[in-house]
Amino acid sequence: TPVPDYLLEIRDLCSTGADGRLADYIPELAAVDPDRFAVAACTMDGVVYTAGDADAEFTIQSMSKPFAYALALRDRGIEAVLEKVAVEPSGDAFNQISLERDSGRPRNPMINIGAITTHTLVGPVGASEEERDEALATGLSSFAGRRLEVDTVVMNSELRTAFRNRAMANLVRAGGIIEDDPDEIVRGYTRQCAYRVTVRDLAVMAVTLATGGVNPVTRERVVSAAVARQVLAIMATCGMYDAAGDWMSTVGIPAKSGVSGGIFGALPGQVGLGVFSPRLDEHGHSVEGVRTFERLSRDLELHLMNTT
Ligand code: GLN
Repeated sequence: TPVPDYLLEIRDLCSTGADGRLADYIPELAAVDPDRFAVAACTMDGVVYTAGDADAEFTIQSMSKPFAYALALRDRGIEAVLEKVAVEPSGDAFNQISLERDSGRPRNPMINIGAITTHTLVGPVGASEEERDEALATGLSSFAGRRLEVDTVVMNSELRTAFRNRAMANLVRAGGIIEDDPDEIVRGYTRQCAYRVTVRDLAVMAVTLATGGVNPVTRERVVSAAVARQVLAIMATCGMYDAAGDWMSTVGIPAKSGVSGGIFGALPGQVGLGVFSPRLDEHGHSVEGVRTFERLSRDLELHLMNTT
């Protein structure tokens, strides 16, 4: 079957259910059309295939975390980032207070408390809030190969209810892990989560990690191969939070989800994948997105641990 036909088949097979529910702790996310579905794949040479509502935009949410982590690693170096954020799976939900007992470091950069800390490390030392925002805008856009824009309605909606994230920013501030103003950091982190993307963007961003840091559409080197490897490793172990083990055994693709209903996966040296469908399971992962990845992994033999 040619790829476009196959993706249409996947859409029909995987977009049939009405299980799961919309994220409602961010009021604006509860207002989206729950029946949207889109899937995209980008090859190592930058060819993108899509099916479904491929032009539908949604906010990047937690799928921004691996890219912000990549930019922090690029800007500060791996050692300096490891001093602030550990790399162990937490086994807890994305919004839990998961800190290492002795060091006080957040357990990993994929959960909120680790991502809030990582956000402070993007851009040069001493960057202002505006400079950090701009470093993120430029960096995320380089991964996508087009200028991404912030959905200010979603951003402001989340900021009005970001009580947990504010508490966590204050905790890492109190523990001496960050030195920045917690309110400023939550504002910047919430903005980081509100960039609008499509599944096409996700597939290109994903493949830019899978190639080892070069965007195959624009041919820009965005991060080094060492940074891309570190990010893929942390996605594999921590990207799906407290479902990471389940995901790695059944799907076997380094991936990251977001509460807007997107999931992207990056298979090293092979392909970038993006899926969007807003209804979520109890972990905050898209129900149909998980189903789609399971199917893609099986049909195309994408599991990282396949031995043949
Ligand atoms: N902006 C969201 C939050 O911080 C992102 C969470 C997610 O997508 N899992 O709560």
